[in-house]
Amino acid sequence: MSMPSDLDIAQAATLKPLDDVARQMDLPLELLERHGHDVAKIELDAIEAMRDRPRAKYVVVTAITPTPLGEGKTTTTVGLGQAFSHIGRRGVVAIRQPSMGPTFGIKGGAAGGGYSQVVPMEKFNLHLTGDFHAVTSAHNMLSAVLDNHLYQGNAAGLDPYRVTWRRVLDVNDRALRNVVTGLGGRMDGVPRESGFDITSASEVMAVLALSNDLADLRARLGRIVVGYTGDGDAVTAEDVQGAGAMAALMRDALKPNLMQTLENTPVLVHAGPFGNIATGNSSIVADRIGIHCGDFLVTEAGFGADMGAERFFNIKCRTSGMRPDAAVVVATVRALKVHSGNHRIVAGKALPPALLEENPDEVHAGAANLRKQIENMRLHGVSPVVCINAFPTDHDSEHAAIREIAESMGARAAVSTHFSDGGRGAAELAEAVAEAAEEESHFQLLYPDDAPLREKIETIATKVYGADGVDYAPAANTSIDLYERNGFGSLPICVAKTHLSISSDPKLLGAPTGWRMPVREVRASVGAGFIYPICGDMRTMPGLGKNPAAHHIDVKPDGTIVGLF
Ligand code: ADP
Ligand code: MG
Repeated sequence: MSMPSDLDIAQAATLKPLDDVARQMDLPLELLERHGHDVAKIELDAIEAMRDRPRAKYVVVTAITPTPLGEGKTTTTVGLGQAFSHIGRRGVVAIRQPSMGPTFGIKGGAAGGGYSQVVPMEKFNLHLTGDFHAVTSAHNMLSAVLDNHLYQGNAAGLDPYRVTWRRVLDVNDRALRNVVTGLGGRMDGVPRESGFDITSASEVMAVLALSNDLADLRARLGRIVVGYTGDGDAVTAEDVQGAGAMAALMRDALKPNLMQTLENTPVLVHAGPFGNIATGNSSIVADRIGIHCGDFLVTEAGFGADMGAERFFNIKCRTSGMRPDAAVVVATVRALKVHSGNHRIVAGKALPPALLEENPDEVHAGAANLRKQIENMRLHGVSPVVCINAFPTDHDSEHAAIREIAESMGARAAVSTHFSDGGRGAAELAEAVAEAAEEESHFQLLYPDDAPLREKIETIATKVYGADGVDYAPAANTSIDLYERNGFGSLPICVAKTHLSISSDPKLLGAPTGWRMPVREVRASVGAGFIYPICGDMRTMPGLGKNPAAHHIDVKPDGTIVGLF
């Protein structure tokens, strides 16, 4: 069976006028701020205007621990959203906006895939309405205000060696990872070492994702910590008088973007915080609006369920007060076979042929990972539904194996062919999700706000990751003490670790036990509202590969974009 490419499918789509998409959501048209034909921003007044409307079921899409290729969360989020209209219900999708760095770096569909995509995919992947530019501008505005503060006499008493605020750019540019700013003469600023991160790694992006409204955004920007004094007192964006200008630059970016799927299901595209060091979840504002726009609001949480969904529950839902009704755990034959330990997948290389042979026993051999991720949903009191994301190369016996594993755990499961068949291919999944969401919700946060930071980190490591305990490097202990002394101890935790294992070691497959989690350092996103322990090497500025997508992307004289996946 051969299928057209994602770009060909996307470019052949029949889009509905956005007014019609908004009507499907009962969204008053005066709340649309149109950006061309196929994209609109939604005014923040929608939060108030929709407040008393019925509330949709809130469904998070997560996954087993993925291979480096990804197991189809975005594709499933879009496909499930489309599927609800096939069972007589109304779905709304909420997902992240992709970073342009990786778009020009590695090939990989950020808009879903096959017959489950967000369109127009060129707009989705390139610029959209400029929210990332706003984040970049606001972030770098604070960098400039901060460097000027140092230059103009440093009233806040910042220790130039303890400035933590860097600069950002939405380009994969390894040459900017480490820079020295302020070189030149007396008039050219105070020299210090700094560097650039990718825009999605900016704390401003995390603030955008975690703000409940404009006033909250303004307050969070003010709480951003830019560095410390010699005595270890935090200095904030408010202290250096940068937060107001940042908020002005961010005002319009806080309005979610409305697009549609290939089947004209409404999609809210908003914010793109990095999964490595931030929540990897789309925005609270989009969800606060989308929850009143249909029967089901389907949103994706980046990475495997140990990371994305845990952060969705304990950071995003804690911050918004919203309660999830069901969790879809995407599982694939290929990833479970990799968890058996018999195969290795390398991004950019062809799949090993042995991986494609019919082998349900190997799927069973990798079951521990799926079991643990199902348990992780139950740990939070949320009903899991296993989505068996069908690939054309799978065998029925292998799908049956995944179903057996799920059912042995008492979880619902459905084979889903939304990649090949669009929404109708996910109708069984949609039915299962609807049933799960009808069950009484027992949602609970994993830890209380007021637990000490170390206790929170240990709770996540032992309960969600299956570690025996946590080992802190001296620098990590120093930072934790510093944060608690500065009053940041009540913030939730966002563990920065590999997504390729439930453990912090990417080589450990399945559901590893008998290991301890090493915390190398701990950083704070006080404005966004979380503390992030770093376990392993976390890159915040990717580089380009030998043959980056940037070499192949182009535009034809008629304006058609080519080479984008
Ligand atoms: P995630 O969001 O979990 O990272 P994606 O939905 O982006 O995963 O999917 C990863 C890649 O795999 C994409 O290129 C997507 O088009 C492809 N893909 C996902 N599901 C399927 C499927 N069922 N069949 C074939 N390709 C798929
Ligand atoms: Mg995704």
